[in-house]
Amino acid sequence: MHDRLMALADELAAEGESAATPCPDPVNAAMIRNWTRALGDRSGRWSEYAPPAMIQVWSMAGPDERPQPGGRSGQVGREETASPDRILSTLDEAGYVGVVATNCEHTYDRYLRLGEELSTTVIFDGVTGPKRTALGEGYFVTWYERWYSGGERVAEMLFRVLKFKPRGDAPPAPSGGRYPLRPAVGPDTRFFWDGVRAGELRIQRCAECGALRHPPGPMCPACHATKRDHVTAAGRGVVHSYVVHHHPPVPGLTPPYVVALVELEEGVRIIGDLLGCAPGDAYVGMPVELEFQRMDEELTLPQWRPAGTAPAAVEEPEHAEGEAGLRIELTPTFVISTALATRDLTPVHHDPAVARAQGSADIFLNILTTIGLVQRYVLESRPDARLAGIALRLGVPAYAGDTLTLTGRPVGDGALEVRGAVGAGDHVVATVRLKEPA
Ligand code: ZN
Repeated sequence: MHDRLMALADELAAEGESAATPCPDPVNAAMIRNWTRALGDRSGRWSEYAPPAMIQVWSMAGPDERPQPGGRSGQVGREETASPDRILSTLDEAGYVGVVATNCEHTYDRYLRLGEELSTTVIFDGVTGPKRTALGEGYFVTWYERWYSGGERVAEMLFRVLKFKPRGDAPPAPSGGRYPLRPAVGPDTRFFWDGVRAGELRIQRCAECGALRHPPGPMCPACHATKRDHVTAAGRGVVHSYVVHHHPPVPGLTPPYVVALVELEEGVRIIGDLLGCAPGDAYVGMPVELEFQRMDEELTLPQWRPAGTAPAAVEEPEHAEGEAGLRIELTPTFVISTALATRDLTPVHHDPAVARAQGSADIFLNILTTIGLVQRYVLESRPDARLAGIALRLGVPAYAGDTLTLTGRPVGDGALEVRGAVGAGDHVVATVRLKEPA
């Protein structure tokens, strides 16, 4: 399959850019108004130009041209031969049936005026793999879409998905929102996970000599007794050692993040993520305290944060220049109305029954809305800015019922990093490039 896939990839890449397909509607005030109202953009600034983050909306399919399940977002009347769908279906046939979007990058050559007639093309970029990922073995598939007005290119989008072979113990549709990594729970460790569910950090104790041990095991390393019980840890410790994880990418997590080996007051050591701590701020000996992090509907993990930073402090956006975070309550109405305003009719964004059948906790925000909210955040804090591009790295889904909090910080070259966090962690990390103010 691999050789055949790579041959097909070469063939598609050699085809280059597809023929242009006209977008169904010119850039128009009605669609812009629907979009701005749905996304909560009350700036009133879009009377002459279209919001740049709206670019993909102009080429989305209508309700009579529904996207194919497991395929990419629907596009109008595309010639099948020029499309990455052939790669995706080849991977489906080979058992790589899982799909999760990992990257979406917009480049805006210029802003669009009302009345412009657009057309769009697709360029297949490539396939890399097989790669071992937390979700299972998979291939990353990348393509571009470009938008033209007359003969002039006005915008480009890179889109990358991971197509993977779900592992036997993994859910069939992790894109649907379950945190992809699951603990192995067995007779020796069940008490620990029962404790986590009860809000306790339990440490195994030898019932003969009283020695504590972690990770749990069947026999006491000190006296070889097999009788055991447990104690509940106070939830305080210090960083004994740590690493900053940059690579490889782990679906559901956004690098860089700190993974610490924490020495508990009780004397044993345990591994967990260090939350609310920038990689440069971690140090050996740092006092930390326990925090239970909800990963999805079923899974909670014991994690750590610098001592004295109450969990509420995480919600407090870490922003530079005194910027306020943008909090968005993801009501079902918000999720559905933004999906419709971006012409994204994929059922997981409006139909809870379909979303749950595919392994999701609920309906969730679509990518076109996420990128629009990043734009809204940037322009609310910098009203004079003009966007040159937005690059998204996608994390955990943003479900209906959750709250999305966007915060930002400058990252040099006039660019901004915008993070969008939900209860389970980072939904998105975006790098926003700005043009010189007009
Ligand atoms: Zn013992």
